[in-house]
Amino acid sequence: MIRFEQVTKRYPDGTTAVDGLSFEVAEGELVTLVGPSGCGKTTTMMMVNRLVEPTSGRVLVDGRDIAGVDPVALRRKIGYVIQQVGLFPHRTVLDNTATVPALLGWKKAAARARAAELLELVGLDPAVHGPRYPAQLSGGQRQRVGVARALAADPPVLLMDEPFGAVDPVVRERLQNEFLALQATVRKTVLLVTHDIEEAVRMGDRMAVYGQGRIEQFDTPATVLASPATPYVADFVGGDRALKRLAVTPVTAEDLDPLPAGTTEATDPAGPTDPSGPTDPTDPAGPAGTPATRARTVPLGGSLKDALALLLQDDSGRLTVTDAAGRPLGTLTPAGVHRALRRATA
Ligand code: ADP
Ligand code: MG
Repeated sequence: MIRFEQVTKRYPDGTTAVDGLSFEVAEGELVTLVGPSGCGKTTTMMMVNRLVEPTSGRVLVDGRDIAGVDPVALRRKIGYVIQQVGLFPHRTVLDNTATVPALLGWKKAAARARAAELLELVGLDPAVHGPRYPAQLSGGQRQRVGVARALAADPPVLLMDEPFGAVDPVVRERLQNEFLALQATVRKTVLLVTHDIEEAVRMGDRMAVYGQGRIEQFDTPATVLASPATPYVADFVGGDRALKRLAVTPVTAEDLDPLPAGTTEATDPAGPTDPSGPTDPTDPAGPAGTPATRARTVPLGGSLKDALALLLQDDSGRLTVTDAAGRPLGTLTPAGVHRALRRATA
């Protein structure tokens, strides 16, 4: 869908921002561009919507060399989300979201209806947040509006430049998860720039690790973490890359131990309870008491990171792994986590 062929960009002052870049992003794929500040990520991205022109080489979108495509027509097919969001301060959230459909000449009512639909899609209530002005939203909410606006004309391609950079780590993780859930349904072709290796690993189907103006490695996060292509990449992903791999390695059936004999349900002597409900304060059981006897569960295919986090909270040293319907399939122990990580490197 997006293809770079030997692309070099030298700015007029002589700075070579990117040098001989070649890579391809498949339709519906999310590729993260990650690297230190000044390595050429934003320059790369802006060559896709012709905000920057290459000095040499070609950029193709949907099979066409974009040097021959009218920039305005090109940008209609490309949503753009930036860290500073760039909302118009004097326009309501609804009107901000309707900007692109309005520019495309939609009738006002249709543009607003579309905007309302998109606000809902990114988890904002159009009736509550639509009439507000950007200054009346939290940072996280403004970022959501930025994403909604970029999606308004339903472009096949989305460019996101540090889209979650301006919010605190907790909100950032929530926005990342929300966007991944959204992407699972809208399936855009996405280039996402970040300087945060964790974000690149979590978000990317594949990731491009940048050195100075060049891509040092372009592969799946699991492969980059398991086998960094160069010492630079190894250094960039960090000495704890085995831990980072937990987030991108799923729990599979071969990692499981058999269920204890006679187990068919997650056991709880008190019968079915609301897991979020309070525990009985008069319960005399100590730290290893009632809550620990309720088996903690993870679904097959869930990340080892989530599984390990649950294991660490559990006294029994094992988790029940379930199928999609919640039926227990087997148990996961620390030894199983270890086996899974070894398998992922093999
Ligand atoms: P990143 O997004 O990875 O931080 P950029 O693509 O913004 O990096 O910048 C890459 C290099 O190009 C940097 O050295 C930067 O200073 C330089 N650069 C970016 N924009 C311009 C410009 N308009 N004129 C001159 N140099 C620029
Ligand atoms: Mg940048």
